[in-house]
Amino acid sequence: MSEEPSTSSSSAIDEQPDEDEDLLLKDDAAEIERLQLPIQSQEPQQEEENDERIARIEFRCSYCDMHEFVHYYGREPPFALGILFREDTYVMRDPFQAPPPRWQTKAEYYIAMGANCANCSKVVCKDASCSFYYTKTLCLPCGAEELKSWPVEAQTRLRKQLAAAKESGLLK
Ligand SMILES: [Zn+2]
Ligand SMILES: [Zn+2]
Repeated sequence: MSEEPSTSSSSAIDEQPDEDEDLLLKDDAAEIERLQLPIQSQEPQQEEENDERIARIEFRCSYCDMHEFVHYYGREPPFALGILFREDTYVMRDPFQAPPPRWQTKAEYYIAMGANCANCSKVVCKDASCSFYYTKTLCLPCGAEELKSWPVEAQTRLRKQLAAAKESGLLK
C-alpha cells in the first residue's frame, strides 16, 4: 500500500499579495488629487454687488435743491475715455444712454454735475445761479469777491450771472 502524497498544499492559502493594497492606496491618492483640482478655478461671484453702474456718491449742491447720486468724483472718469477735468468733479453717467459693451473701448456720455468751490470748498452744481467757472469752479459769493482780480471779460460774464441770480432771488 502506498500512500499518495496529498497534492494540496496549504502554503499559499492565507497569503495576501501585498500588491493589491498598494494599488488601492494609489487609487485613493489619485482620486483625492482629482477632487482637489477644480477648487483652484473657482472665482468669487461679486459682480452684482460691485455693479459699477449703480451711483453711490452723494452730490448735494450747497445753494440749490440739486441732490443726486453720481458715479464718480475725481478728474478722470473711467467711463468717459480721454476726459480729464481740471478739478475734482462729480460725474454722473448719462442715465438715458445704454451702456456700451464691456469689451468696447468707447466713451460713454456723462454729465458733469458740479465740483467743490475752489475757495470755500462748498459743493456747488453747474447751474449759473450756483457757480461760476473761471480757471476753477467758484460758488457765486466767492466769485463775487474774487472777480476784481480777473480779466474784464470774465468779470463781465460773472457780473451778468450774479445779476441774474439776484433777480431770481437765489442770491442775496
Ligand atoms: Zn446748485
Ligand atoms: Zn465758495
